Amino acid sequence: MFSSLREKRRSTIFRLTVVYTLLFIVTSLILFGIGYIQLLLTITNKDHQIVSEKIKFYTNIAERSGMPSLVEELKRTRAQNERTGFFVRVADRSGRVLSLTLPQGWNPMPEELSRTMLPFVEGEWVTVKHPYSTRALAPRDTLVIAGRLLRDGSILQVGYSTHVRRVYLESYRGIFLFIIGPIILFGIMVGTFVARRALKPVHDLTLATKSVRSGRMDARVPLGETDDELRELAQQFNAMLDWIATLMNGMREALDNVAHDLRTPLTRMRASIEAAMQDDADIDRLREALLDCAEESQQIMNMLTTLMDISEAETGVMQLDLRPINVSDLVASISDLFLYSAEEKGLTLETKVPHDLAIYADAGRLRQALSNLVDNAVKYTPEGGRITIEAYEDAGNVRITVKDTGPGIPPADMPRIFDRLYRGDKSRSQRGLGLGLCLVKAIAEAHSGTIEVRNAAEGGAVFSLSLPRYPHAEH
Ligand code: ADP
Repeated sequence: MFSSLREKRRSTIFRLTVVYTLLFIVTSLILFGIGYIQLLLTITNKDHQIVSEKIKFYTNIAERSGMPSLVEELKRTRAQNERTGFFVRVADRSGRVLSLTLPQGWNPMPEELSRTMLPFVEGEWVTVKHPYSTRALAPRDTLVIAGRLLRDGSILQVGYSTHVRRVYLESYRGIFLFIIGPIILFGIMVGTFVARRALKPVHDLTLATKSVRSGRMDARVPLGETDDELRELAQQFNAMLDWIATLMNGMREALDNVAHDLRTPLTRMRASIEAAMQDDADIDRLREALLDCAEESQQIMNMLTTLMDISEAETGVMQLDLRPINVSDLVASISDLFLYSAEEKGLTLETKVPHDLAIYADAGRLRQALSNLVDNAVKYTPEGGRITIEAYEDAGNVRITVKDTGPGIPPADMPRIFDRLYRGDKSRSQRGLGLGLCLVKAIAEAHSGTIEVRNAAEGGAVFSLSLPRYPHAEH
């Protein structure tokens, strides 16, 4: 139980909720405080205003009609003043009190008030606290008192009990105490809701990752409705999973192909060895068997080397031995290489290359790239077709094209044929690993060149390799 509580405390949702709730409460407290101070200032001002007006009124009476009239007026309104919380005291110049009105609950008069006339400066406010603290009797009331020196030297003091103010402020505090509970509850609820909502994509991401780890490669993160960074993250995550799935399928397929392609030479090798091991085998037969084995193992070596080349090209560590190369010589040697297999399939192989074209490249790698293109052309072009290798200068570059009269590339395959391990659906019957064009692209890019493909109007695929022209060509 404790550990689950500890886990909960560590969770981001919990922390966000706490932060949000605290923020909510602190903001409410600050707003309440500001409201409280504002209310206090307003009521205090009002109190002062009431007292000032009362002083003005009594001064008018005293100075217009004389002190006896004021004493008479105070006597007449005493009951009302007492009820409404007023303190009024008039003393003559010798300090003798002529009239005294105390607000309700202030009788007997606190000593501080009765002892002497309060020392006062005109315009200054004096506060006298009620000395009795029993709740029933005006609890914590104060009197705010101001005074005036009349023309005949007598002193007029008027005070107002804070009773009314206290009632207002207390009810304000009461309301706050009453609503602070629901405010906290509301804060926690909203905080939890907001934190959960904000972190839902992260939660979904965790679930998807767990599913993938448990072997469900088809698990994906549901995309939220809002177009924000977390949706972008989910999209990228899903795209990454798609990519990994494609890669894994491709690798599985490639492994199948490699296993399949390796099986043939290995089976042939075993057959030769078994034949050689027969009792009546003479020395010539043994020699022939060894020769077969050497040939087959060479084939296996070639296959593995290609795979190594691919991974080297893919990881970008391919070392290039750059030298000026005559394109015509290069194309002629490639043509020689494929002449036999093309003829065997009834294909015509022709080349159209000017003699003075040169590029700066790694001869071995370039030969590898062109061989892959021509090998594909031979592989995919049906009997009786034609393969044309052309080269020409094109805006400072040298463009070498390999064109065939085969089926061309289906438009749906176009964007993907240079991807690692991609094989067209219709090409499955042919041998291959789906790595040839990927290697061509890597070699082209390692030479700062490009490789493009299009289908010719009259049918067939046209692969076009563009490489920077060698500026100091000898020819
Ligand atoms: P593969 O080992 O399958 O030939 P590549 O990477 O060399 O792999 O080629 C990828 C795919 O491009 C092939 O599977 C095939 O569908 C398509 N392709 C390549 N060259 C040609 C071509 N000359 N004509 C038609 N399709 C081609």
